[in-house]
Amino acid sequence: MSAASSPTQCKPMLIDGEWINNGSERLVSVNPATGQVNYEVCAATPANVEHAVAAAARAARAQNWSALLPHQRAEVLHCISERMSANAERFAQLQMIENGKVWSECVAQVKSAAATFRYFAAVCETLGAEVTPARGNYLSMTAYEPYGVVAAITPWNSPMTMEAQKVAPALAGGNAVILKPSELTPSPALELGRIALEAGLPHGVLNVLPGSGASTGAALVEHPGVRMVSFTGGTASGKRIALAAAKKLMPVALELGGKSPHIVFADADIEAAAQAIASGIFEGSGQSCVAGSRLFVQRSAYQRLLGAVLNIARSLRVDLPDAKGAQMGPIASFAHRDRIAGMVIAARNAGAEVLCGGLAPGDVRLARGAFYLPTILADIENNAAIAQEEIFGPVLCAMPFEDEDDLIAQANATVYGLAAGVWTADFARAYRVARRLEAGTVWINTYKQLSIATPFGGYKESGLGREKGISGVRLYQQTKGIYVGLGTP
Ligand code: NDP
Repeated sequence: MSAASSPTQCKPMLIDGEWINNGSERLVSVNPATGQVNYEVCAATPANVEHAVAAAARAARAQNWSALLPHQRAEVLHCISERMSANAERFAQLQMIENGKVWSECVAQVKSAAATFRYFAAVCETLGAEVTPARGNYLSMTAYEPYGVVAAITPWNSPMTMEAQKVAPALAGGNAVILKPSELTPSPALELGRIALEAGLPHGVLNVLPGSGASTGAALVEHPGVRMVSFTGGTASGKRIALAAAKKLMPVALELGGKSPHIVFADADIEAAAQAIASGIFEGSGQSCVAGSRLFVQRSAYQRLLGAVLNIARSLRVDLPDAKGAQMGPIASFAHRDRIAGMVIAARNAGAEVLCGGLAPGDVRLARGAFYLPTILADIENNAAIAQEEIFGPVLCAMPFEDEDDLIAQANATVYGLAAGVWTADFARAYRVARRLEAGTVWINTYKQLSIATPFGGYKESGLGREKGISGVRLYQQTKGIYVGLGTP
């Protein structure tokens, strides 16, 4: 997206229950599959940020949200979930034209977002506070209270999923939220704002501010009225946010990048592993924080496994995201496609062998889009830039390993620690390896299965804090101890 100054109408932002067009800053939404302009969207100015924080702070203090009983808040979350499901096609269409994901994946992501609101409605209604063991003549208990104003900053690869994952638990916890979507994908967030109002969420409890990360995002993080930030995106941006948060002593939840090892031992089901490896890196054109981008195969099975993955990669249908049977759409933006292509060229120049892909498809129907073919690189050293830096594209780096110790040393030799996959018929080994891998999620004989009920987050530079699961609500609450005297101390 880029800034524009045309006088045409543009999608307004949501502040305090009102749709606001500031008449100045705009973002231009471009369809990455065709290069055509979708529409323009208002970008928040510093004055809009001030307005939104003031509105959210008022809403956080008002009695009509944070003071509601949990089952009353749950009712609104249920209603948002139902409306999201009822508007599934609209949500899916908006995401598809903004980030180019194939239709089936967009539809699946709306369903998952609606399920996330349903899950946190249930958590909200059932999660109790605790009475703790008394150590004197008093009743002691732990209460959980909202931070007040929470900023949720989301990326472009899976906006609906990430927005639901942050907004639902933050609301369940009794907070007011300011949601700043990526400038590439503002519409699903605006749509969420619209249905939340229809569902009865009081004005100011959810505000949606499109705008760039460097201006709108940074202004929110630094604002003294914002008391907690939940961010998903790249590690470099996450570190900048953590530094700004440290100056305010503000808690942050950071879900960042990854360079996840996908590991195959020689005794594994090679066909099943090959399928999972291909979908683990090529689904969503590899633009996933948990993409299995480093493939480690035990040397005796290396050629066999690589041949099977290569066959799948070559047969994948790269097409317009709404084409029937399309398995891979474009990259979400032209700039990102060019960055991926540049990294592959640099790797080739450094000696990597390109087994397939490494360029845009030849199909003339796709020539105006930001497409890039499924790519497999071999003959790579684990310490090469291409094997260490997050590519966030459909590029698999294949490397052999000798034995378990060699594998663990190589797999853990990265600054990242988000996820990993292990394929073997030996359960004891699978468990042993899973425990030795430095990663927040490990899949055994499966890959990229994600449940809202299971906490998710990264080791090392892949993040801070855990989203999802029952404790996902606690991420958005602060803990208070209360003592009630029962007579003579
Ligand atoms: P960013 O991390 O920059 O973007 C994620 C979100 O953060 C966007 O809403 C962005 O706004 C916002 N943002 C950026 N900088 C700041 C800041 N200083 N303060 C507050 N908000 C900020 O991702 P990029 O789009 O630049 O992608 C870079 C790389 O990050 C990718 O190539 C990939 O490696 C990784 N990435 C990882 C994701 C994940 O799921 N873990 C998701 C997306 C990217 P805006 O987009 O409007 O500038």
